[in-house]
Amino acid sequence: MPGGLISIDEARERVLAAARPLPSEAVPLAAALGRVLAEDVASAEDLPPFDSSAMDGFAVASAEGGELEVVGESRAGAPALRGLAAGQAIAISTGAMVPEGTAAVVPVERTRPGAAGRVVAEEVRHAANVRRAGEDVRSGQVVLRAGTAVGPAEIAMLASLGRAEVRCGGVPRVAVVVTGDELVDPGRPLGPGQIRDSNAPALAALATAAGARVTGARRVGDDFARTVEALRAAIAEADVVCVSGGVSVGEHDHVKPALAELGVEERFWGVALKPGKPTWFGAAGAGPTLVFGLPGNPVSTMVTFELFAHPALRALRGAEPSRTRVRARLEAPIRLNPRREQAVRCRLTAAEDGWRATPAAAQGSHQISSMLGADALALVPRGEGELAAGALVDAEPLARDTVHP
Ligand code: AMP
Ligand code: MG
Repeated sequence: MPGGLISIDEARERVLAAARPLPSEAVPLAAALGRVLAEDVASAEDLPPFDSSAMDGFAVASAEGGELEVVGESRAGAPALRGLAAGQAIAISTGAMVPEGTAAVVPVERTRPGAAGRVVAEEVRHAANVRRAGEDVRSGQVVLRAGTAVGPAEIAMLASLGRAEVRCGGVPRVAVVVTGDELVDPGRPLGPGQIRDSNAPALAALATAAGARVTGARRVGDDFARTVEALRAAIAEADVVCVSGGVSVGEHDHVKPALAELGVEERFWGVALKPGKPTWFGAAGAGPTLVFGLPGNPVSTMVTFELFAHPALRALRGAEPSRTRVRARLEAPIRLNPRREQAVRCRLTAAEDGWRATPAAAQGSHQISSMLGADALALVPRGEGELAAGALVDAEPLARDTVHP
C-alpha cells in the first residue's frame, strides 16, 4: 500500500491474470446444474426427431376437410402402421408421428363424428398443427457453447439431445480463514470487547453461492505462528483461499507477514476502493492457489469477495469472468470520495426508462444491515462534492450463480 493504491479494474486484471480454468471433467447430467460447460454441444440429430402432431385430432390427407374414413391411429410412442390416402383420416394424439401423406392435423374440437367409422373434419390451413422435424434444432447445429452456465433450460436441452454426460469446468475448492482475537462463534456468549464471527459463515456462503465447494473454515487469533499454520493448511487444500481481517498495518495484523513466510507472492495490496482499501491478493505455487486477503469489516469482506474473488471463481469454473453491468439512475445523492472509488450497496428497481438504484441508507463497512436487500453494487468513480440524484451510475448486480451442493 505504501506504493499507492490501484483501481478496481487494475486489481481485477491482476486477479484474472493469475486465474486459470481448472481441468474439465465429465459430469452426469443430473449433477450438471450450476456447473459451466467446457465443450460446445452440437446436436447429432434433428429436434424434434420426426414430424409430429401439435394437437389431439385427425391427420388428414387434404386440408380441405369433409367426411373422411378413419383408417387407423397414431399415438405418442406408437406411430400408425400405414399412410394416408385421399378421403382418409388417422386419429392422432399430441406428439405422435404424423403418417405418410399428412397434409394437416385437424384438432378434435374442429371435427364431429360422421357415419360409422367416419369423421367430419372442418377445413384447416395447409400444414396446420404439424411440427416439423428439426424445427427446434437441426442436426449438426451447435446449441450450447463452452462457458455457458448450466441452468434448468440447459439441462432440458442436453437431455433432449440424448446427453447422459457433459464436460464441465471444475468446481473450485475454497478454504476460509478468519483472524481476530475478538471473535467468537455464533451461539456463544460475548465477553467484553468480543464480537461474533460473521465473516466465516459469510465467506462460506458467498463461495458456495458462487459455485465453489468450501473445504473448511478456520479461525485464528491475532498470532503470527497460528496464522501461518492455518494459512499453510488452507493453501494445501484449496484452489482459492479467502482470509479475512489482519491485513492492514496494525501491530496485530499478521496475515501479510504469514503469507510472506509461506512464500505466497503478492500481486497487489491496496485498492482505491471504499469499502475495501487494504485488500491483498497473491498467488501460491504453480497451480497457483489464489489467496485473497480481505479486510475484516463484514461489509468490506463481502464487497471485496464480490469484486475480486467472485470473478476469479468464475474464471476457474470456466465461465466468462466479467460481471454483468447495468446503467442505473440514482434515486438519492451520493457523496463522492476524492481518492477512492466506492462500491455502494443498492437496491435495483425497474422503472419505465430503465434501472433505478436506491443506495442503502447505511453505508458503513461495519453495517451488515446495508447488505440486506442489496442486489447490486453501484461503482461510483472518485470525485469532489456529490453525485446528484438522477445521475447515471454503473451497477453490478449481485445475482447469485446456481448453488452447487
Ligand atoms: P481487521 O481487518 O482485522 O482490522 O478488522 C476490521 C474490523 O472487522 C474489526 O472491527 C473487526 O472486529 C472486524 N472483524 C474482523 N473479522 C471479523 C469477523 N470474522 N467477523 C466479524 N467482524 C470481523
Ligand atoms: Mg483483526
